[in-house]
Amino acid sequence: MPTGTLHSPSTQPGWRETSSLAGQGLTIGVLAMQGAFVEHVRILATLGATVREVRLPRDLDGLDGIILPGGESTTIGKLLEAWGVLAPLRSAIGRGLPCWGTCAGAILMAREVLDTLPGQPLLSVMDISVRRNAFGRQVQSFETMIMIDGMDSGLPFPAMFIRAPKIEAVGPDARAIAVLEDGTIVAARQGNWLATSFHPELTSDTRFHAWFLDIARANRGQNSGLTLASTAMP
Ligand code: GLN
Repeated sequence: MPTGTLHSPSTQPGWRETSSLAGQGLTIGVLAMQGAFVEHVRILATLGATVREVRLPRDLDGLDGIILPGGESTTIGKLLEAWGVLAPLRSAIGRGLPCWGTCAGAILMAREVLDTLPGQPLLSVMDISVRRNAFGRQVQSFETMIMIDGMDSGLPFPAMFIRAPKIEAVGPDARAIAVLEDGTIVAARQGNWLATSFHPELTSDTRFHAWFLDIARANRGQNSGLTLASTAMP
């Protein structure tokens, strides 16, 4: 898990305050079984979202989006299975629930996981292939500024890597949205789903969370349009 030094808020250039209204009227779940979920909860609340910690299948009801935190993907996978959340979460995401996985969360989302334990329970929903622990051990954690394709402002984002996976392949439906200087893919998007090798929740830059809330809001707008159309009286 994150070291103490990497918990300190980032003051890198590129930091920008986001609207505290970004999450207003949205209910966002944060998978809260193990790992760095508290940090996500705190940022989402700062941005005005109603936040629900997800531990049971019923916690998935009525969500506008869900974040899968960093931590230990093997442990989170086992708890997902043991607490009966793996299958309902997989089908909610499969039906289009906006979902963002950070680090271990990205591993859980990937269709292919390399260097994993045999039988590791996974959600396997997103068209990415990831290699666990590909940047080395916890002492090799690092922070760097990267550009995120699609995330507004054109300013770099402070990306923090802690025993992070590399995204080794994307597609056909996913695409890379951030790469390191050597070309390593560290973030991908597939429709309403985001996967990041790094940890925006451990910085003071709230732009990534605000962007996810925008995606969740746009998705809800589309769905409520469908609901209204299908329930409209003649
Ligand atoms: N190495 C962890 C795993 O494979 C992920 C690390 C993290 O989430 N910071 O699950």
